[in-house]
Amino acid sequence: MGDWDRLRSARLDVSRRSALKGFGAAAVTALAVQPWRQAIADPIFRTDPFQLGIAAGDPAPDGFVIWTRLAPEPLAFDHGMPALAVPVDWEVGEDQGFRTIAAKGTALARPELGHAVHVEVAGLKPGRPYWYRFVAGRERSGVGRAMTTPLPGAALDRIRFAVAGCQHYEQGYFTAYRKLAAEAPDFVFCYGDYIYEGRGGRVRNTREGPVEAIRQHDGDEIYSIVDYRRRYAQYKMDPDLQAAHAAAPWFTVWDDHEIDNNWVDLLDQDDTPPGIFALRRQMAMQAYYEHMPLRASALPVGPQMQIYRRARFGNLLDLNLLDTRQYRTNQPCGDRWQPDCPGINQADAQMLGAAQEKWLMDGLGKSDAQWQALAQQVMVMDLDRNGEPGATYNLDSWGGYRIPRARLLKGIQDRRLDNVVVLTGDEHQNYAGELHLDGRNPGAKAIATEFVATSITSGGDGVDVRPDMVWVQANNPQLKFNNAQRGYMLCDVTRERWETKVRVMDRISDRNGEISTRATLVVPAGETKVVAG
Ligand code: FE
Ligand code: CA
Repeated sequence: MGDWDRLRSARLDVSRRSALKGFGAAAVTALAVQPWRQAIADPIFRTDPFQLGIAAGDPAPDGFVIWTRLAPEPLAFDHGMPALAVPVDWEVGEDQGFRTIAAKGTALARPELGHAVHVEVAGLKPGRPYWYRFVAGRERSGVGRAMTTPLPGAALDRIRFAVAGCQHYEQGYFTAYRKLAAEAPDFVFCYGDYIYEGRGGRVRNTREGPVEAIRQHDGDEIYSIVDYRRRYAQYKMDPDLQAAHAAAPWFTVWDDHEIDNNWVDLLDQDDTPPGIFALRRQMAMQAYYEHMPLRASALPVGPQMQIYRRARFGNLLDLNLLDTRQYRTNQPCGDRWQPDCPGINQADAQMLGAAQEKWLMDGLGKSDAQWQALAQQVMVMDLDRNGEPGATYNLDSWGGYRIPRARLLKGIQDRRLDNVVVLTGDEHQNYAGELHLDGRNPGAKAIATEFVATSITSGGDGVDVRPDMVWVQANNPQLKFNNAQRGYMLCDVTRERWETKVRVMDRISDRNGEISTRATLVVPAGETKVVAG
């Protein structure tokens, strides 16, 4: 069966089902139904169905995913759509004006997926930009820019990309994303906390006292699939976030707040029975899939979803995207910053799980790229957070998992790789430093380096150096840089050096904040050290 036949039978299938169902559901939605048959072929929307924007993701040499989700009433229980599949036309152009069409087709926005559309575009040329857009009924989406990756092994001189995440809606405006979009990176790595699961609140308590919310989550803490959809919808209506998606393809991974604070495996922080938490996890994962430009390989299977994967950029960079939540053993001695405890040396602790760890090590062993990045969630650097007596660790980070951490670093060392860079989020501060097997007393050459990117908004306006970080900076020689403002990192990688610009916002509590470069940090190839650029 050819593409056209497949498409036609899909359309016929939709018409048949819609005829059987009648238009009871649609009568209460924004989809104005003329006769039903016509509504499927040519739906008429009372409001823009593309209010959640568009996105591209997971680029490969022959294509990428393009995404949208029809939601004419984004916060309504049914997002303004009937319980029917609706065809969405898509096209990919070689130029911004779509004078040369490289690929086009029709996809179905299905009610099972909240009317999300994921098209895995293939057959494109490697290493070049493309533009994409969608049409549903008489409505046209905005235009997004994506890029295919160069062929693995092909000579590549340079790649420029942004690292961002932790975007609590209530704690500030996403202005940093507008600034990021203007930098036109080749891609964006989002390390997670794309949404936060908590209930809307007017005031939050901080170490500086109560702070009023800049804007508010709609509704209570999220549990059901509709709750999660509405939360993603609220975030995705932000025009600055939409601009960042339209500017470049993204690689996304989740951290904890896409599901629940500090979750691992089938465990949440409230001792919910695992079988019950699994139900919430399943809905959260489905909503994550529905809202991210992910390939079909990530489609959830029950409460599981594989998001660890690898992208290769010619002979320059391998990007290993990791999942440090789904296959992890429980945090030792509680989830928080705590003094050393016996649990952090638990012999059978897992951070990646055996299968992912083997996949990572096999990939690192085979890599012939100049740089290998580990793009992941929680800090690997062994940082003493100043607890007396003894050291204090963030037990939700690799610092609480010393055996897996040592195995990771030993694995890098054994493979004689000296250009491994770890990219991390979660901390709501910028950090850069060196990774040593013997933790925080480095004498020898480091095994790898790590850049921890701050947050787009989480934590509010922030300061250059938090008072409590003065001690941390003075007593952790492996830590080379720290800052507590909001923003993102911009990595500019060549064969000779990995340069990370720490881009920070002067404020995010109003929409007119300005961005600047707080530091330019460089890892010279082969030297596993962070120096001022
Ligand atoms: Fe966060
Ligand atoms: Ca987090």
